[in-house]
Amino acid sequence: MALIWSLRNDRDAIRPVPELEASHANRKAESAVETARQLEARVERLSMVCQAMWELLRDKAKLTDEDVIKQMQQIDLRDGVEDGKMTRQTLVCPECGRNVSSRREQCLYCGTWLVKNNLFE
Ligand SMILES: [Zn+2]
Repeated sequence: MALIWSLRNDRDAIRPVPELEASHANRKAESAVETARQLEARVERLSMVCQAMWELLRDKAKLTDEDVIKQMQQIDLRDGVEDGKMTRQTLVCPECGRNVSSRREQCLYCGTWLVKNNLFE
């Protein structure tokens, strides 16, 4: 009997208390929901900006929907794959010559500010 009690206590000692696990999981879930809300609001705002820019170009530069679709196809194919996505490119640092993700503002290795290939990266 004493052995069973001892094993049970040892097992409980190394496991977090269930209430703490639930509380931690709840905070993580709330944080994920808030992040999703912020991203959704940002996407909605960016969609409205794109729509406004498109309507200005259509009205002032006399472009058509077909012009936009053709340009989107050209951009899609820049990475050699027609998948409806713009694949991020690897940049070469002008200072140290190492490859750096285009997501970065500065070279990971030497800190040089990187020149982006387009306005949206
Ligand atoms: Zn560098």
